[in-house]
Amino acid sequence: MYDYLIIGGGIIGLSMAKAIHKKEISAKIAIIEKENKIASHASGRNSGVLHAGFYYNENSLKAQFAKNGNQELQEYCDTHSLKINKCGKVIVAQNKNEINGLEELKRRGDANGVELYWISEKELAKRFPNIKTTQKALFSPTTATIDPKELCMNIANELIKNDISILTYTKYLKRIGKYSILTTQGKIKYKKLINCAGLYADKIAMDFGFAKNYTIIPFKGIYLKDKKNISGLNTNIYPVPNLKNPFLGVHFTYAIDGSAKIGPTAIPAFWRENYKGFKKFSLDEMINILYNEASLFISNAFDFRSLAIEEIKKYNKNHLLNLAQRLISDTNLKGYDEWTTPGIRAQLLNKTTSELVQDFTIEGDDISIHILNAVSPALTSAFPFTRWIVEKYLY
Ligand SMILES: Cc1cc2nc3c(=O)[nH]c(=O)nc-3n(C[C@H](O)[C@H](O)[C@H](O)COP(=O)(O)OP(=O)(O)OC[C@H]3O[C@@H](n4cnc5c(N)ncnc54)[C@H](O)[C@@H]3O)c2cc1C
Repeated sequence: MYDYLIIGGGIIGLSMAKAIHKKEISAKIAIIEKENKIASHASGRNSGVLHAGFYYNENSLKAQFAKNGNQELQEYCDTHSLKINKCGKVIVAQNKNEINGLEELKRRGDANGVELYWISEKELAKRFPNIKTTQKALFSPTTATIDPKELCMNIANELIKNDISILTYTKYLKRIGKYSILTTQGKIKYKKLINCAGLYADKIAMDFGFAKNYTIIPFKGIYLKDKKNISGLNTNIYPVPNLKNPFLGVHFTYAIDGSAKIGPTAIPAFWRENYKGFKKFSLDEMINILYNEASLFISNAFDFRSLAIEEIKKYNKNHLLNLAQRLISDTNLKGYDEWTTPGIRAQLLNKTTSELVQDFTIEGDDISIHILNAVSPALTSAFPFTRWIVEKYLY
């Protein structure tokens, strides 16, 4: 019998175990993970950007945790000698119409207490000659990139040293009693269960009577990589996003190994782990997801039709390169010739309102807690976010 049983060995499950252990050092804690290693899904397949915290509405949980999460993870990487690239980020306006969007980001940044500076077009040309903007750009000095797999491994090793069990190859199958579940390794009993299962969090929550209004719509993010950074990228470059949906638009990421990436896309996927070809294909999932995507396409909720069409076009390498080219001037993009590991966002859809849920969402009672919609910036926010859940929902 475990005091706390966590489902999911991603950054949220790992940080949750760390937070519970800190609060209650003698608690018996286990994490079950269906794959043979931790961070096999979103936590090991993302951009690795520690976001500064200026995209999010000031009343949101994302705003509450991203800024501090960024700072804590920077300190954690420094303390544990993990790789980190403190290269900042420039957000550019591609035309005059986007200036309003830039100003809204600055307003949100100020409201969230995030360090963010205006740079004039002239100054930008001096500091970052390859970056193109209209009139002005924003510079975020606290944005950084890390290796998310290295981070997760480090946390996992710390947990193991503290006698927390990480049971890989152990898949949650179903609930079989108030305080027990069936897994591929047999029955497991607990006093409290915490569901951090990413792409499957909604399904597991439903077994416990939660997430009734929700379903996950998977969105695939693919990247093009310039291994040798022929393009000479030295910071992250982002466009002004459409703040009506939770995606940040195609951007350049300057990775910790010195390489550069363009992406990720937000292409609607057909099953939850639809990374490549027919691997992990599930007919049940496809029928369900296609039904939801077709309904969104017909109702055109949150402009889904043009989002889907625009995103699918990004499978075409030249199209993706052309979009990226709008953020830079005279830069050689020939090095971007390798599609790298894709990631899939576990984006929650509110079935009642047909809206993509913008914020992190938590449901539960005294037996189980369910972390739904742990989408970006959940990597950045993981430490303070999970500590807050522990305080608010577990004690
Ligand atoms: C393309 C992309 C780019 C992103 N970029 C950034 C970024 O730059 N910065 C940022 O802050 N965030 C970013 N994110 C978001 C970030 O990666 C996620 O918010 C975060 O990784 C979510 O962590 P998680 O632990 O909830 O999910 P996951 O990492 O998916 O972990 C869930 C785990 O649960 C396991 N699981 C599922 N079902 C079961 C079951 N039945 N039994 C046992 N185990 C199960 C899975 O195998 C998985 O390991 C990005 C995401 C994507 C997809």
